[in-house]
Amino acid sequence: EANEKESMYLVSEFAQKYFHNVLMNTDEGKAIGYSYFKERGFTKDTIEKFGLGYSPETWDAFTMEALGKGYKLDYLDKTGLTIVKDDKKFDRFKGRVMFPIQSMSGRVLGFGGRILSNDKKAAKYLNSPESEIYHKSKVLYGIFHAKQAIAKQDNCFLVEGYTDVIQMYQAGIENVVASSGTALTPDQIRLVNRLTKNITVLFDGDAAGLRASVRGIDLILEEGMNVKVCTFPEGDDPDSFAKKTPYDELVQYLSENAMDFIQFKASLLMKEAKNDPIKKAELIRDMVTSISKIPDKIKREIYVQECSRIMDISEEVLFNTLAQLVQKDI
Ligand code: ATP
Ligand code: MN
Ligand code: MN
Ligand code: MN
Repeated sequence: EANEKESMYLVSEFAQKYFHNVLMNTDEGKAIGYSYFKERGFTKDTIEKFGLGYSPETWDAFTMEALGKGYKLDYLDKTGLTIVKDDKKFDRFKGRVMFPIQSMSGRVLGFGGRILSNDKKAAKYLNSPESEIYHKSKVLYGIFHAKQAIAKQDNCFLVEGYTDVIQMYQAGIENVVASSGTALTPDQIRLVNRLTKNITVLFDGDAAGLRASVRGIDLILEEGMNVKVCTFPEGDDPDSFAKKTPYDELVQYLSENAMDFIQFKASLLMKEAKNDPIKKAELIRDMVTSISKIPDKIKREIYVQECSRIMDISEEVLFNTLAQLVQKDI
């Protein structure tokens, strides 16, 4: 219902202002939250731009403040900002730095909250639950700030996390969004598709990041979009890499290392597959499977030629394999 959703937006916007105020203007917020962001290299401008905040280490300070201002418990509950249990009420977010998640038009939908310690037992990030206004699979973190640059650059960098978006943006690369906390979904890709046909995937330089990149490729191709992949050195993610790299070098790294998906797949598996015919066959089948996701026939043909050249296998064999796969799809 429209009224209920509007009330949920309003309480979320109040929460964003509350957490931001705690970060900027309270002793606890400044000592713990603000200094944490400073350590990560975020400037005051960046903190303001992304509306970052801090949730104090108490049971219910936020909830009491919101109720005192006249916000209804029902909406605090429905947005997940307050956990209601019997007649008790608790703040969901306690002692975390807060990343507000905004819609394409800038409304606050929910939050990601990061713990400050590197305590491996607690979840590093806690997110708002699904709600009538926050559908995780349909949201891209950073899209509100990135949309103009995405359209202008005619390319969108896709990263994994909140801090990757913020660090890249601060470094001067503003056309960047994150899938944040979910595996990439078709709805998220369609949000980008409204702005550009080109996505460059920049996932973490670890095994999980590599796996996520591979999964993302086929989804992006299925939406009829072009996909490149740029990997980072082992142990780096876009945040850590952008933080230590001057702007010119960063731009150069991204342009020099962005590979078309077909080259990416080849390079990824070639090393181990090189002298192993069975692995090479698997790799080729994997590449043709990706090609089969491309809706446009001409593009499929171009990629078959590319694959033939890279893998040194006849186009005819590839076309036959492709025909089988495309047939199955219909
Ligand atoms: P940081 O640099 O702050 O350690 P990160 O963004 O590099 O964070 P990753 O571990 O690479 O964190 O995870 C990528 C993204 O996945 C996060 O930004 C977050 O959105 C999501 N994520 C990670 N861990 C969790 C978790 N325990 N619960 C929910 N979401 C998570
Ligand atoms: Mn990671
Ligand atoms: Mn990461
Ligand atoms: Mn990181």
